[in-house]
Parts: sequence; structure tokens; C-alpha cells
Amino acid sequence: MNRPLIPWLKRAALLLCLAVLVSGCGHAAYTNRSQLLLIGEGQEMQLGLQAAQDVLKKEKESSDLLQTERVRRVGWRIAMAANKPEYKWEFHLIEKNDVNAFCLPGGKVFVYTGILNLTTSNDELAAVMGHEIAHALERHGAERMSQALMLQVGGQAASIAIGSSVGPVASEVFGQAYGIGAQVGVMLPHNRTQESEADEVGMILAAKAGYEPAGALSLWRKMDAYAKSKGKSQPEWLSTHPSTTQRIADIQAKMDAIRAKYFQPQYLN
Ligand SMILES: [Zn+2]
Repeated sequence: MNRPLIPWLKRAALLLCLAVLVSGCGHAAYTNRSQLLLIGEGQEMQLGLQAAQDVLKKEKESSDLLQTERVRRVGWRIAMAANKPEYKWEFHLIEKNDVNAFCLPGGKVFVYTGILNLTTSNDELAAVMGHEIAHALERHGAERMSQALMLQVGGQAASIAIGSSVGPVASEVFGQAYGIGAQVGVMLPHNRTQESEADEVGMILAAKAGYEPAGALSLWRKMDAYAKSKGKSQPEWLSTHPSTTQRIADIQAKMDAIRAKYFQPQYLN
């Protein structure tokens, strides 16, 4: 189909202006991958904190003090390894049989009992939390928001990208990027590059925090078996992620180098 040339040019010029104006290119922490980021980190964090309040209003926190404490302890150790003092870290265990976990920008981390019950060691729990925290640190949500802005550019979106306020339109784009819909919770539809980056950085964080990075390997093998046992009705955490065969191979390929460089065994686990 032929597209009219002028609107296309206008759109391209506007995109270029936007990119220049907001200096929308950044580099991902740890991997140094170039990213298009049209949203400021402060703005992104503010939206994350708002979304976290909504999640807490709707979801029920676990009354199991022991497991809640376990999630907090593993989470804090990864947070310390992440060295992100501007985040206001919190770790919540949600009483729900969903295989789900996420970290919102700003450092609010949610782990569901459904995924916690699948983990049989703190190394595996560290792999879950490291992966989710890595998505936030690498600003994968902001990348998705930027992609959404690119599609909508020319309208209100441009003003969001340049402005620093958090208006209803910014909230809507955030909600779309994070998959916050009618249903409670967050479903991050990350792409393959982001997933592979979160696996790698998640392993680095877990290793720096004193957890054996092989926890990621046993976790994903378990996820694979669990998904197969469920047939088509895959758990949410898996359905938003690419197939596990390649992922397990990638994790295995990177693991020894990450362990050698970052793993600091600690007495307390
Ligand atoms: Zn992920």
C-alpha cells in the first residue's frame, strides 16, 4: 500500500525533533545496549509508584510472616547489589495462586504466592526477583512507553515526551506499556531482547547478592516442566515470556562467566 509522502515526512521530522529534544537515547546499565527512551526516569518512577498503590489497594498481601520475610530478605539483598539509592524499595508477597512477579519503576516489587511456591530454594527466588528487578533497572517499561509514543507521535504524546508532568495521558501510556488493564496486576509484555537482558542482569544481581546464579537454570527448567504439565493454559509469567528452550541455553552459556566475575558466597542465605 502506498503511503502519502508528506505525512510520512512530517512524521519522520517530528520523530527526529523529538529524539533530539529529549535526547532520547540512553544505554542500558550492565549491557550498554542503546535504548530509545523518551520518558524521563523521574517521571517513570512516579508512574510506577502510583501503579504500586493501585496494586496494593486491589491485591491481598500474604499473612504468612515467614514467607513474607523471606521475600523481603532475598529482595533487599538484590536491591543492595543493584545499588539504586533513588528507588524506594518495597517487597510484597501477594496471596494469589498466579505464577507472577514484577518490579515497578521506583522499586516496588511484587511476588505472588503461586510463583513463590514453585521455588524450592532462595537461589531460585533470587532468580525470579533478580529478573524482575533487572527489567526495572534496565528501564524496559520506559522503552515500551517510548515505542508507544513513537506510534502516537504528532498528537498529545509529543507533549508527554517533552514535559515532565504525570498527566492522565502519561498514565494511560504507562498502563498500556505495563499491561495494567481491567484485571489486577501487571503483565509485562517484554520482547526477546529485553527478556534475554533481564535474564543476564538478573543473574548478575543474584550473584552479587550472594546467590548461586545456577538458580536461574533450575528455575527455568522448573517453569518449562510446569508449563508443559499445564498444556495450553500457561501461567502468566511464562505466557509473557518467550519459549524456554533457547532461554535455558542462553542462561547456561552465560552462567560460568557471571559466576566467576560476580558471585560472592555469603554465609547467610
Ligand atoms: Zn521478564
